[in-house]
Amino acid sequence: MPHANPGIHHLQVGDVLVTALNDGQFHAATEYVTGVPAAECEALLRDSFRPLPPRITVGCFLLRFGGRHVLVDFGGGGAMGTMLGHAGSRLAAIGVAPEAIDTVLVTHAHVDHVFGLVDGDGAAVFPKAEIVISGIETGFWLSAENESRAPEGARQYFGIAQRALAPYRDRIRHVADGAEALPGITARLFPGHTPGHSGYQIVSGAETLLIWGDIVHLPGIQFARPEAGMGFDIDGDQARRTRARAMDMTAQDRILLAGMHLDFPCFGHVVRRSGGGYAFEPVVWAPTESGPFGG
Ligand SMILES: [Zn+2]
Repeated sequence: MPHANPGIHHLQVGDVLVTALNDGQFHAATEYVTGVPAAECEALLRDSFRPLPPRITVGCFLLRFGGRHVLVDFGGGGAMGTMLGHAGSRLAAIGVAPEAIDTVLVTHAHVDHVFGLVDGDGAAVFPKAEIVISGIETGFWLSAENESRAPEGARQYFGIAQRALAPYRDRIRHVADGAEALPGITARLFPGHTPGHSGYQIVSGAETLLIWGDIVHLPGIQFARPEAGMGFDIDGDQARRTRARAMDMTAQDRILLAGMHLDFPCFGHVVRRSGGGYAFEPVVWAPTESGPFGG
């Protein structure tokens, strides 16, 4: 497939080489959106030249620094046919073997973030990796009581989270809000989408990148109307408050961010719009080869 987009994009953050790996896209519907009428969502999508019905991009990130190979999530694996599950071929294309991955930082245990951690037989894709995740998150998804209390349509997601984490059960390390997940990387609890949903903030030298997980699923809608939630948020009101806080903070402090469902290659800044709401300004691509500007 010589014309296929490689789905791989590198960005240097201090000493950390961050690589966005696209896992695919899945079909969504404006009916998934809560808090903003479907007609308004459709108008926003049309005005931003996006497909209707909308699609949700799925990505994950590889961090390379100090001899380490760290993933942040790993897509949906075989959960959605050929729509998702492409992160593995991206990783192979840049020559990183599964055995080289030492750590996986997990934002939350939804299917499109963790099911890529296991193969079709339920075995670990990353035989040497430690899983780092919020204890609130595993406490929620690994609870038989929560599973039995969940609405019938949502119950399958417990089984998926349990299956994805099962082969790693002896190498899970819990990380609390504000704690160091790895040297230079701090966990940030952003609850609501799921109870333990967390971002990871990388600081290296003078540079910072916040990987904010699923603060946004549909960039064409939710930056303009951050009150728009998703029907599969576990606590929609809390997710809304978290999104308001995250957008306010990243716009105010001009923080570079990355998100799993932002448009590939997923890096950019939040800016406040004068008429209300926000906009997302993607990082503009630049060549990395040495030239008259150095680099
Ligand atoms: Zn997601």
